[in-house]
Amino acid sequence: MSTTSSLFTDLDFDRDGKQFGYIQAPQSTNTAAWANLFIPLIVIKHGDGPTALLFGGNHGDEYEGPVTLLKLARTISPEHVRGRIILVPALNLPAVQANTRLSPLDGRNMNRAFPGSPSDTITGQIAHFVSSVLIPMADVVVDVHSGGRSMHFLPSVNMHRVADPRQMSEMVRLAMAWGAPYVFIYRDVAGSGLLPGYAESLGKPTLGTEMGSASQYGPATLKLAYDGLRNVLAEMGVLSDEHRTPATPSQIVASELRDDYIMSPASGIFEPLVELGDTVEVGQPVGCIHFIEQPSWEPVVIRAKTAGFVMSRRAIPLTQQGDCVVVVARRIE
Ligand SMILES: [Zn+2]
Repeated sequence: MSTTSSLFTDLDFDRDGKQFGYIQAPQSTNTAAWANLFIPLIVIKHGDGPTALLFGGNHGDEYEGPVTLLKLARTISPEHVRGRIILVPALNLPAVQANTRLSPLDGRNMNRAFPGSPSDTITGQIAHFVSSVLIPMADVVVDVHSGGRSMHFLPSVNMHRVADPRQMSEMVRLAMAWGAPYVFIYRDVAGSGLLPGYAESLGKPTLGTEMGSASQYGPATLKLAYDGLRNVLAEMGVLSDEHRTPATPSQIVASELRDDYIMSPASGIFEPLVELGDTVEVGQPVGCIHFIEQPSWEPVVIRAKTAGFVMSRRAIPLTQQGDCVVVVARRIE
């Protein structure tokens, strides 16, 4: 079994200047026996300095990352850079092109495929190229997400709570530099194999985001993504301070209890009873599930199990048992 990736790029990561190119992933399809997937890759380098590795489109239906990274790739001149910026605006390219969270090629979630392997399906092969070629070069890793089609979010820069206090304080410092309303500490309740989790496990300062959702997608959210990434690059010293946009200080909040993530007990139509930012008490109804097949049945009431405020809410009314409908967060020091 091979341990070397069959994916490759023609770009030279050590060359000064700006290069637009691709990560090429060998493919064979019904309509092209011999083909490559062309995943956009941009390298901007100028002299010595830290390397920032930026991802968008890890989930295909979250377009804040792709649009923002394309803008940065076009607008940042090499002379403005000290060190290197590597941009991958559409990591799960087939999903970005299909407006789906998961890859339409193998049905897999890129953000559950890390670190991947060369003998994996295409999603895991791309993850493996990222893990073995790109992440080792990085001094900071940023993976831009939003709620996509299924969730609304208060805009946040986020991370897991990592064991190393120095890495944690470095991540919080960089997250605060973004200038988003919230710095959000979360736990994994829906599987492992996340890109940020893998980068964090290597000791890399790593930031994720939840910038909004498909229905919150607009100029304000996109400005927060664009300004925030430039602020983080300036905080790293990769861009000069004149690229910073001042912002009001973020609140640090966390959802670290399993019960902060409220899953629907039944399948049906979700009626939300709370807005983003609303305070909730233990036992307070946050939503209910209606049963269209049984008009006489009372809806099932979903109650908060922890106190705090609403950080995230389900955006799609039609809901399956076990879908996360509300996330409760609390302010921490
Ligand atoms: Zn995502």
